[in-house]
Amino acid sequence: MRVVVVGGGIGGLALGAGLRRRGFEVAVFDRDTDVTATGGYHITLDERAQSALSELVEPRIMRRLLASASALRLRERDAFWDRRGRLLGHGPDLSGSRSVDVDRITLRMLLAEAVGDDLHLGCRVSAVGYDDDGAPQVLFADREPVSADLVVGADGVHSVVARHLAGGPTNRPAGIIGFSGRTLRRDLSAAERQRLRPRSSLAVGPHGAALYIGYLDPTGNAALDAPELRMSMTTEPTYIWGAMFPAPDAPSGDDLQAALLAKFQERGWSAHTLEVITRAAPDSVARYRFNAASTRAHDLAPWPPGRITALGDAVHATPPTAGMGAGAAIRDAASLLDHLSESPTITEAVGGFEAEMRQRGSEVLTLAMKTVRLILATNTPLGAAATALTTPLLAATARLRR
Ligand SMILES: Cc1cc2nc3c(=O)[nH]c(=O)nc-3n(C[C@H](O)[C@H](O)[C@H](O)COP(=O)(O)OP(=O)(O)OC[C@H]3O[C@@H](n4cnc5c(N)ncnc54)[C@H](O)[C@@H]3O)c2cc1C
Repeated sequence: MRVVVVGGGIGGLALGAGLRRRGFEVAVFDRDTDVTATGGYHITLDERAQSALSELVEPRIMRRLLASASALRLRERDAFWDRRGRLLGHGPDLSGSRSVDVDRITLRMLLAEAVGDDLHLGCRVSAVGYDDDGAPQVLFADREPVSADLVVGADGVHSVVARHLAGGPTNRPAGIIGFSGRTLRRDLSAAERQRLRPRSSLAVGPHGAALYIGYLDPTGNAALDAPELRMSMTTEPTYIWGAMFPAPDAPSGDDLQAALLAKFQERGWSAHTLEVITRAAPDSVARYRFNAASTRAHDLAPWPPGRITALGDAVHATPPTAGMGAGAAIRDAASLLDHLSESPTITEAVGGFEAEMRQRGSEVLTLAMKTVRLILATNTPLGAAATALTTPLLAATARLRR
């Protein structure tokens, strides 16, 4: 069976690797000319995503991934702050967590290596359809069409394939613009290092301003202690942060870092809480629009199963607020591979896969949208007043508990 995968991001490469490993004929096409041309932030892979990945890639790739990843169990419990840097509470104990954080660039490089010469870069897909023999076909702007037994769209939020299947967009803007950046822990003042500690944090303030600060240390907190296999982009303790603002009022412009800082200051954030942004590497600061599909399972993949399908963000575009979009795309890939290996026909395989994907997509979207709604709720007059009033009370309670 010949499978053509449109999109060599996280889900498409994971699928390509798995198909190749199980002996399917596969070709993955991506418009990028370089796999390292991808977001500089990190990806959290939970236990389910890692177990799916170990089905898809060879053990040697998995070992290099874990040697390049930062284990959540080795960092301190997450902290929650208000905009003045007052502690509001802690997240759950992470000592039993099997989740890891890995640089997105490292993950994509390892997956690309697993796909090998079945990955074709610099190939922008313009449309999908069927050839004269009724086989699914992929069309390109500047090369001959390619036919296959099955076409899988793993082409992300603005998917050409899912749009063809659904007859229109499968997601819409979630109302939030995100910003990410990287700051070395050693570049922070001693006081901020002491406050932030080796852990991740989240602060939400009035008027829809939020700051997530992820902590990555693939060297000190390696998930697998094998330095000779390490290929992380992050080489020392680093905060990889994500700021969020409601879309209509989000910072923009050439100097994103300065625009972001100004926006937080306007909303009353204390200067020390913004040090992590001030001291970020300027070329690491990037802007993303969050898109989201419906949280209802029956709205996802609303087409009859056939020989063209899609997975990942193409179907269930998930804002990064739950850190689960890439994991879900990887789990989609493992599920499709299992169904293709076990089902008597392609259509039955696709039908079984799509039914599972609807549930999975709905589950991760529901979690991600909880944080999106919380942030948007603080942007109403009532929500802003409630946030401004309740956070000092929460901070006082947290102080009493200590
Ligand atoms: C700041 C940020 C932080 C995130 N953090 C996390 C996290 O911690 N954990 C997590 O699980 N998820 C996270 N995510 C979400 C995660 O990145 C996505 O959910 C995930 O990448 C989806 O995988 P995918 O394969 O469906 O799409 P993508 O990885 O987006 O891949 C789509 C690919 O298709 C290609 N493509 C698109 N159109 C075409 C075309 N016409 N022709 C050819 N190629 C095409 C693109 O070049 C791209 O390579 C984060 C996202 C952002 C923005």
